[in-house]
Amino acid sequence: MRYENDQFIIYYNSNDVNIRYLIITLEQKSKDIMEFFELKRLSRKIVVKIYDSIHGYKEHLMPLLEQNGNTYHEWMIGDTLDDNINILALKECHKLESHKNHTLEDQAKSILHEFVHICHHESLGENNSHGHIWFSEALATNLSGQDYSGTSITCTYEELKSNFPNASNKYATAFLMGKYMLENYERSFILNLIHNWQLLNEFAPELFEKTKAYYSKKTK
Ligand SMILES: [Zn+2]
Repeated sequence: MRYENDQFIIYYNSNDVNIRYLIITLEQKSKDIMEFFELKRLSRKIVVKIYDSIHGYKEHLMPLLEQNGNTYHEWMIGDTLDDNINILALKECHKLESHKNHTLEDQAKSILHEFVHICHHESLGENNSHGHIWFSEALATNLSGQDYSGTSITCTYEELKSNFPNASNKYATAFLMGKYMLENYERSFILNLIHNWQLLNEFAPELFEKTKAYYSKKTK
């Protein structure tokens, strides 16, 4: 099935009972996300594909991961590797050990998370390889309303920066750094980080240390 409005084209299986909720949430929340990036409109309609089988999703994902020298992991349920929003259907997420308790709200947030990546790419334009995956994930987790609080930082900055896919607690670390950044810095400064990679390079280690100190004090 296909649903289209002025901003999205959504492909889904007609059996998907969650589609109405997902569309309404996306239509409402996507506006706030665009506003954060100061995007008045997107350069194109964004395609959202909801995959009805784990097999179908892997078939899409694995070749794209391989192109980038990455490997598939069971916890992968959404991506924007082809500049579309690709998401595994909720009933399929439930078959995965990593997402067996995934709720409909979590599913909507996963779609918004991927939409943040799309907006981030849009505001960067063509040249979007800033080399800070943690920064993209910091924005995506926080602006989509995902919550990784209650976890702690267990990797080093070097691991996070140069080997994100294998860093321990990587999404939680990115989330905490993003949360600290959003709570303590002006939005204009954060938008500056998006465009000024030199500034991001300089700021990132400092943010890591500040976040780590703040949250280790908090949990003691
Ligand atoms: Zn992400």
